Formats: sequence, C-alpha cells, structure tokens
Amino acid sequence: MESHDNFAYLLPFIFFVFGCTFLFLARWGSASSRYWGLGYIGTSLGFASPLILTAAPIPAQAIVSNGFFLAGFFFYGHAFLVRFGRPLLVTERMLLCGAAFLGISYLILVERDLRGELAVSDISCSILLIIPLWQARHHIRRPIDRLLAVMVGLAVADNLVRVSALLILTSSESYASLDDFLSSDYAFFMQMTASVFGFLLALTVLGTVMLDAVWQHRHAAEHDPLTDLLNRRGFERLVPDFRKESFPSGAVLVCDIDHFKLVNDRFGHASGDMVIVGFASALREGLPADSLVARFGGEEFVAFLPGATLVQAGAFCNSIRLAFAARDWREGGVAHSITASFGVSSTARGDHSMHDAIGRADACLYAAKSAGRNTVVLEGQQTEGAPPQLRVVSASDLRA
Ligand code: GH3
Ligand code: MG
Ligand code: MG
Repeated sequence: MESHDNFAYLLPFIFFVFGCTFLFLARWGSASSRYWGLGYIGTSLGFASPLILTAAPIPAQAIVSNGFFLAGFFFYGHAFLVRFGRPLLVTERMLLCGAAFLGISYLILVERDLRGELAVSDISCSILLIIPLWQARHHIRRPIDRLLAVMVGLAVADNLVRVSALLILTSSESYASLDDFLSSDYAFFMQMTASVFGFLLALTVLGTVMLDAVWQHRHAAEHDPLTDLLNRRGFERLVPDFRKESFPSGAVLVCDIDHFKLVNDRFGHASGDMVIVGFASALREGLPADSLVARFGGEEFVAFLPGATLVQAGAFCNSIRLAFAARDWREGGVAHSITASFGVSSTARGDHSMHDAIGRADACLYAAKSAGRNTVVLEGQQTEGAPPQLRVVSASDLRA
C-alpha cells in the first residue's frame, strides 16, 4: 500500500506542474494553452481533493473531486475546440457537466452507489472529449494536430475501457465503501493509466504550444503587419531557387499606387493605410491562389505567378487595375479615385535569381509611370493594336 499512497501524491503534483506550465506559456500567444492549463489544474485538484480534504466526510470528498474532474475535462475540450477554431458549444457542454454533477451527487448521497458514480463520471468525462474530437474531425491536418487528436482519443478509450471493466468485472456489492475501493488494485490501475495518458497528452500539448509559438513568430517575421501579405524576407524564402536544376517558369509583377503621396497629404496617413490595405486585397483576390504576393515597402508590391505566361499575368494586372480604379473610397474619407501602375516580366533562362526578373518588371513599372500611370506595361516585343492601358514594350526599348 505504501507505494500506492506515494503514487497518489505524485500524480496531482505532475498534473499541477503541467497546468501551471500551460498557464505560463499562454503568454506566448497560444490561445488554447490557457485552457489546457485550467484543464490540468482541474484534474490535478480532482486527484488531490481526497488527499487534501481528509477531515471532510468521504461523500463530500467524492463530490468535490468529481466536480474538479468535470471542470478539468470541460477545459480540455475547450482547449481542443479553441485550437481548431470550432464552435465552442459552451452552453451545451456546461449543461452536460451540470447534469453529470447532479447525477453523481445523487448516486453518492442517496444511492450510495460508488460503482454507478464512477461509471457516470468516466462516461461524462469521455463525452466531454468526444464532442470536441467530433467537432474538429475535418480540421485536423498537421502531423502534430493528428498526434494531439490521437492522444485525446486514447484518453477517451482509456476512460471507456476502465468503465467497461468496472461494470463487467465488479458487482455492486464488491466495493462496499470508498476505503475498500481506494485500496483496491483497480484504483491503482486507474490512476496509473490516467497518469500515463495524461502525461503523454501533456507532452503533445506542450509540442503544439511550442510549434504554435514558432509558427506565429515565423509568420510575424515573414509578413507585413498592415496587409498580412509576405514581406521581402518571406518572399525571398518562398520564391524558387534559380540555381536548382528545374527552371522556374512564371511571371513577375511589380506594382505601385499612383500619386500616393497626395493621398497621404490630402486625406491623412490613416486613409493612406486604408488604401494600401485595399490594394493588397485587390491583389490577393485578383491573382491566382498559388501566387506569391509581397509588399516590398511603402505602396510597392511584387508578385510571382508560377507557371503564368506574360500575357496571362498582364490580363490579371489589367483586371486588378480596372477594379482598383473603379473603387469608391468615400466611406474611408478619400474623395477621389485612386489608380495603380503595373510592370510585368517573365522569368528567363539566363536569370541568376528572381531579382533579375523583378528588375525587368521594375523597368516596365517605370515605363508605365512615364506613360501616364494607371497602366500595365509588359516586357516583350512591340505589338500593334495593344490597348493603350496595356502597353507591350520591348525589353530592349526599356534598356535604351
Ligand atoms: P508615383 O505615382 O510616382 O508612385 O507617386 P507617389 O506619390 O505614389 O510616390 P511614391 O510611390 O514614391 O510614394 C511613396 C509614399 O508612400 C511615400 C510615403 O510617405 C508613403 N508611404 C510609405 N509607406 C507607407 C505606409 O505604410 N502608410 C502610408 N499611409 N504611407 C506610406
Ligand atoms: Mg507610388
Ligand atoms: Mg512607391
């Protein structure tokens, strides 16, 4: 019995330490970490209450302990739903906890049925995990998320196996009192499996919280905070490497809002920001989904369209140009229309890096500005009959 008793103290302590760790890690920005912390502290208090409340009557200990377990599992489920951005179903899950708590209290106080109480408790805690697993089933994609779902699934399976074993292997008379029960091998086994699964789940949660923090910092390092487009660093990491064997065919565009200084001067910096955000969303919506779109600085944007031809990219730019010029900014306090200019090039076999293609697109942008702005200029051969706003200028002309 000695070792059983020591083990009983160790478990709530480990769970409590994990709970505090998750609460602390919530500062790193993982939204679910706080709830994992509350879950682990809840279950740690569930394990600890019979050890702490030794002076209280045994039914009171059992009721308090069950209350903490239900709260702990409520928060585990909450953390899982928050992590996967699923509906939280707070009312439904709280009603389930309330009903389970009343049922358990009734079984303890009125029926004095320990076996029934354990079964209701384990089944309720399982349902509190099954609901979030079911809700998130289509949103579990990354390997670490799969591992997390497997761990939660194992905790459910552990609960259900335990309750089945209890109901099959014991009769209602075999555990006459809580004392008998607590000193049984069954109780020891229950604590051991719970601690193993709880420990493995905690390690997995720790992994998700750490990876979330790394991803969040990487996202912040590689994206522009105003538009959430890639910044130059993010763009350069993601564009194909020209030194590799396969040639990355595609189109590059460089664009810039026309007379943007006037927008800032006349309508204020905040209105300028709004126009930048509007232009970024026009690019996001108007370019193919696999495009790499970046804000390189100020109101200048660069994009790489993998596999796109010059003419296709020019057509995308022209649609964006027309939609942007037609946009009404009056709601944001800007009283006139705003336009943008675009330069488009395509990657060439002699290019050493994406910057060569960006340089040619930039020269086209310069030509578009010189040609009166609100224009798309494509690198390439002079073509008769090109619409005036979609000029096709030869690269050699640009160099001249
Ligand atoms: P052009 O048609 O030749 O492009 O003329 P322009 O006035 O747009 O000139 P330019 O592209 O050089 O203007 C850049 C301006 O963008 C200067 C700077 O004050 C403003 N700017 C840069 N970053 C921001 C920003 O984050 N927010 C706002 N509101 N303005 C910015
Ligand atoms: Mg400009
Ligand atoms: Mg500019």
